[in-house]
Amino acid sequence: MIIERSENEINKLREAGKIVGLTHKYLQQFIKPGITTKELDILAKKFIESKGCTPSFEGLYGFPGSICISVNDEVVHGIPGNRVLKNGDILKLDIGACYEGYHGDSAWSYIVGEPKSEKDIRLLKNTEEALMAGLAAIHDGCTTGDIGHAVEKVAHKYNLGVVRELVGHGVGDAVHMEPDVPNYGKEGKGPRLHKNNVIAVEPMLNLGSRYIYQLNNNWTIKTDDGKNSAHFEHTVLVTDTGYEILTRRDVELDPEDIIEK
Ligand code: MG
Ligand code: MG
Repeated sequence: MIIERSENEINKLREAGKIVGLTHKYLQQFIKPGITTKELDILAKKFIESKGCTPSFEGLYGFPGSICISVNDEVVHGIPGNRVLKNGDILKLDIGACYEGYHGDSAWSYIVGEPKSEKDIRLLKNTEEALMAGLAAIHDGCTTGDIGHAVEKVAHKYNLGVVRELVGHGVGDAVHMEPDVPNYGKEGKGPRLHKNNVIAVEPMLNLGSRYIYQLNNNWTIKTDDGKNSAHFEHTVLVTDTGYEILTRRDVELDPEDIIEK
């Protein structure tokens, strides 16, 4: 069942989403060569908790971190650790925050320092475009197939591999809920979405083939061919005429959260 959220629930989802957006903005200040993924994870946890939320992914299905941090050919579910970020790395931060029992979920890809190649710059730009195309297909009465089709169309335009084993999802009083929102599909197919449903759309696109495998840590997903991958995700509310992004990125940090140079 796809749950229609009440006004009260939507307000909590808005607050959770806002904190996720703010956490991205806060962490961006620290994305530089030399920082470890564990340091970013600790900063994320402290920040999320300072805003009255808890990190949604901490301990979720046993996940050993507060946020997922994946680098280069790691697609998703990277475990924060002693990996030191290097100039030109593609860094993917997947952040969830829970406010009064309701979640926000947003992943974004960043280039550490100076980009290594034009290809990497385009991978990020095109994957973000695929996300926005998926969102543009959302309105009261659309189907998950409409969204997947729109995402896939952009991916194919740029010759990118579409990861199929991992999908977007409903969001609410759990991070992962019905329905699945694949990054491929046919228009008019799949479950129908209605006003006040909340979903996460999250294309994972690869420079090479779509195929992936899981490391024997039982978490990290990598591309089969070792080529880079990008991941962009927003949690959105379905409205009459379209959608509202709950994990907005145009939020303003409090002055005390801004790190001076
Ligand atoms: Mg996510
Ligand atoms: Mg998600």
